[in-house]
Amino acid sequence: METKKVFEALKWASSCLKKHNRDENAGEWLLQWILNVDRSKLLAEQRMPLTEDQWLRFEQTVTQHALGKPIQHIMGYEEFYGRKFKVNKHVLIPRPETEELIEAVLHRISNFFPETRDLRLADIGTGSGAIAITMKLECPGLEVLATDISQDALNVAKENAHTLGANIHFRQGDLLEPLIQAGEKQDIILSNPPYIPVHDVLDEVVQEHEPALALFAGEDGLDFYRRFALDLPKVIQGKALIAFEIGAGQGEAVVALMKSIFPTALTETLWDINGKDRIVIVQCKP
Ligand code: SAM
Ligand code: GLN
Repeated sequence: METKKVFEALKWASSCLKKHNRDENAGEWLLQWILNVDRSKLLAEQRMPLTEDQWLRFEQTVTQHALGKPIQHIMGYEEFYGRKFKVNKHVLIPRPETEELIEAVLHRISNFFPETRDLRLADIGTGSGAIAITMKLECPGLEVLATDISQDALNVAKENAHTLGANIHFRQGDLLEPLIQAGEKQDIILSNPPYIPVHDVLDEVVQEHEPALALFAGEDGLDFYRRFALDLPKVIQGKALIAFEIGAGQGEAVVALMKSIFPTALTETLWDINGKDRIVIVQCKP
């Protein structure tokens, strides 16, 4: 068989991906993964011939992605806040916008709470465990609980916690139910709940491969925030920090819901670099 050089393989991939309306850069990411090199090394080795095995694997995985399989499902992981999280069809692939939620919360925790040791944090709808595990590793003094309604998702999150060495607790259940039943109060509640309106049409790669349970939330995408507004007062007491990821355009509605239950709290909407509202943070004082 004729061997292909790196640049030839990339050229083939980019035209195949383009034909299928996929991101042309996917070829570079897959080849980096197959050759186990970073981007600068790959670009420096444009004339290096691939082995037959490497080429066949590349051809196969680029084709899989062209047909719609997410790259992260091909590689089996996604990077989040500098760490690798295993992902599969049972969990949302963690997104860069959720890294901004982490960043915003880390910035506020130390100002809001003079001492983070023994503070209790709950991540509701943990999926791959991205939020809960990252918070525990960034602030080891926190006592972290992660919940999800999906046992399959919790199994992935547990495996990630084990691999990444994060000692956190897991509980299966519907939204805040597990906390209400245990009568446990939290100091920090974080959630990236499903927030996409049910009739929205998503990119085919997302729609066909990521769990609907992780994405959709009623007619206007706000169902989970309404349920949080009803139950949050049962799971916090006095001083508490609450932060949600939201869909672009939902800030006003989510702020109004939070103000209706915590009228004296400081409630902020944070915008991303593209000017979209993506986070709502509530600082409740006793
Ligand atoms: N926290 C992860 C992240 O940020 O990458 C996953 C977020 S994903 C948008 C929402 C998660 O909420 C999914 O893992 C889904 O299984 C879970 N979920 C959906 N409905 C739920 C419910 N009623 N109670 C608890 N978790 C739920
Ligand atoms: N950010 C995800 C997307 O747009 C949605 C995540 C969510 O519903 N919480 O695909």
